[in-house]
Amino acid sequence: MCEKEFHIVVLGGDGIGPEVTQQATRLLKQIEPHLPDVSFRLDEQSVGVGEYLRSGQGLPDSTFAACQQCDAILLGAMGLPNVRYPNGTEIAPQIELRERLELFGGVRPIRLFHQNDTPLKKYGPGGFDFVLIRESTEGLFSGRGGKTDKQAGEATNVMKITRRGAERVTRLAFELARKRDGKKKVTLIDKANVLSALFYFREIFDEVATEFPDIESEHMYVDASALFMVRNPDRFDVMVTENMFGDILSDLAAGLVGGMGMAPSGDIGSQAAVFQPSHGSAPDIAGKGIANPIAMILSTAMMLDWLDHDQTKQAASWLDDAVAKVLSNPDNRTPDMGGKMLTGQMTDLISAELQNLIE
Ligand code: ATP
Repeated sequence: MCEKEFHIVVLGGDGIGPEVTQQATRLLKQIEPHLPDVSFRLDEQSVGVGEYLRSGQGLPDSTFAACQQCDAILLGAMGLPNVRYPNGTEIAPQIELRERLELFGGVRPIRLFHQNDTPLKKYGPGGFDFVLIRESTEGLFSGRGGKTDKQAGEATNVMKITRRGAERVTRLAFELARKRDGKKKVTLIDKANVLSALFYFREIFDEVATEFPDIESEHMYVDASALFMVRNPDRFDVMVTENMFGDILSDLAAGLVGGMGMAPSGDIGSQAAVFQPSHGSAPDIAGKGIANPIAMILSTAMMLDWLDHDQTKQAASWLDDAVAKVLSNPDNRTPDMGGKMLTGQMTDLISAELQNLIE
């Protein structure tokens, strides 16, 4: 008898979202029989543009209720540029989920699998391996409504930092640094010399740092961190920053390891978590079978790790190791990384490696 059933809400979404999500659920189903005390209830729900066109709701109430009750949410990608709400914005249930479930920590691991995948030629596999955590509920994005006074020729967006927001994301960063097998260091990325809101963030960061005497802490200005991320990414372990800086730096970071198709993410809250690739719905390649499934598969591994059961953690490392093994051969790449493999072929290889590791 299974001791623990994990209820996973699966939201494929739009564009390449369902294509990559299907690869992840395929691998979960492969793993499940090998976890004696764990089972997965994969609860697929319709969300996004398709659902909006059908029912008028991008994120139906019943789906949101399931998201509130489940153990974790696995999300593909949502939104299409040619379908919008009457106010002109795209259908974006992933943002709605982040806000309504208070998913305050956007965790983006950056790991190099093969030298060919990085423009930084001095690095080989494992040459750098860091995590960027983006505060996701406030910062400059919280002022996105803003104020535009065309008469006065002036527009303003306000950056908001709260004690609660800065404290919880900083704590998440230190806890992660403690768990990781890394340099045991947290770097706060800010611009505290110019913006008082970020000076406040820094004060709170320093307070929280005292709770973690075993973890080194440092501050770095965001401009310098962009430089160091390109010149010496191996100096970082866990980085934490406000929303807008995190948004920009995480795409830069993804570019260091092969692009958006290689960048997994977890949006972590105190009651819920969503795991999804960092990329969007990529409508230009949807339906062609060429989407890179790696970001989605690595996000699934993050979810398994986050579920925090011995056996799901074991499954997470099987998945990570299977991906690393497949990517150690530079011929195994999808077209976004200069290769020729189809989405399903890439998953076939990962699935075969996974089986070797399981047996
Ligand atoms: P969003 O604004 O939601 O981030 P977007 O459509 O602007 O979405 P993405 O979908 O993230 O941006 O990606 C931009 C381009 O990168 C895509 O149009 C596609 O060509 C490529 N791309 C993104 N993800 C993948 C992937 N998994 N596999 C292959 N190519 C990808």
